[in-house]
Amino acid sequence: MKTEVAVVGGGPAGLAAALAASETVSVVLLERERELGGILPQCIHHGFGNFIFDRMMTGPEYAQHFIDRVEQSGIDVHTETAVLSLSDDRTLTAVSPREGMVHIDARSVILAMGCRERTRNQILLPGTRPAGVYTAGTAQRLINVEGAMPGKTVVILGSGDVGLIMARRFTLEGATVRGVYEIMPSPGGLTRNVVQCLEDYDIPLHLSHTVTAVHGSRRLRAVTVSAVDEEMNPLPGTETTVPCDTLVLAVGLIPENELSRQARIAMDGRTDGAVVDEHMETSVPGIFACGNVVHVHDVVDDVTVAGGTAGRHAAQFAR
Ligand SMILES: Cc1cc2nc3c(=O)[nH]c(=O)nc-3n(C[C@H](O)[C@H](O)[C@H](O)COP(=O)(O)OP(=O)(O)OC[C@H]3O[C@@H](n4cnc5c(N)ncnc54)[C@H](O)[C@@H]3O)c2cc1C
Repeated sequence: MKTEVAVVGGGPAGLAAALAASETVSVVLLERERELGGILPQCIHHGFGNFIFDRMMTGPEYAQHFIDRVEQSGIDVHTETAVLSLSDDRTLTAVSPREGMVHIDARSVILAMGCRERTRNQILLPGTRPAGVYTAGTAQRLINVEGAMPGKTVVILGSGDVGLIMARRFTLEGATVRGVYEIMPSPGGLTRNVVQCLEDYDIPLHLSHTVTAVHGSRRLRAVTVSAVDEEMNPLPGTETTVPCDTLVLAVGLIPENELSRQARIAMDGRTDGAVVDEHMETSVPGIFACGNVVHVHDVVDDVTVAGGTAGRHAAQFAR
């Protein structure tokens, strides 16, 4: 397959990039999931689009606005298509159940693969390995998309926006959230989320605390939490056992950059994302990157703007 611009990832960054590029050149959009929209279809809370649309939308509403435009645009969309490799001459290999292995020669490529969540292994959380330990995104998907409750008594580790939003979500679904534990001395998320997700629901926030052990054989039974010192080391003698059947890890996101590394794109050690210039072009000419794959964005409107910039300049390169 040949195209002028290939976009990898159909979240808000990829949708905006594909739309901008499609105004002047041919575009192929590759998304590994069945639906477009990236993380947004599972973010059913309000809080999206305040800057671009001047009103608060849910994640699915925000995504649908762009999906509708993509459907009317003539962009060649391939869902359930995972890109497996990218070379620095802008050749992609993808695989899908319908088309099998596909090779795509693109004049320019836009990387918009988003982030993945940090797991228990990455934060070296000791203890047994019972069921009931979830990343926040998995728990969110189970509740909001699959209609399944992961548990009834919940501890949340991490007070970024994702952790705060999940504390409220579990509460609204009838679970008891024992508390949100945060290793830093201040909350990680937006103040509006601390107020609207915790204070409004009387959910306790324990700053300078972390989970230091997981207990249970088949199912999670309890966690041990400890206060930490200024260097984030657990303080002996401060351990408390908190009974719970669910531990939600909201401990950070990592840009999904395997393809960027394959293409030998220069990476920024601070963000774990590609180094980009003001056109969102990476160190490899003709390969652009935008959205959470570059660095974690709190606000989706910024992702959409960056996608538009990448799309326009990728199209210019392809012409
Ligand atoms: C729980 C949560 C709550 C949030 N709340 C808010 C909020 O209230 N307000 C707000 O403005 N923002 C919010 N955000 C932030 C916002 O959702 C993100 O900044 C935005 O979704 C990032 O868009 P993206 O396109 O870069 O990544 P994503 O949305 O993650 O999309 C990336 C896409 O790329 C696809 N992909 C990855 N690798 C491949 C591959 N190899 N081949 C093909 N496809 C691939 C993925 O399947 C995915 O669909 C929230 C985020 C989360 C996680």
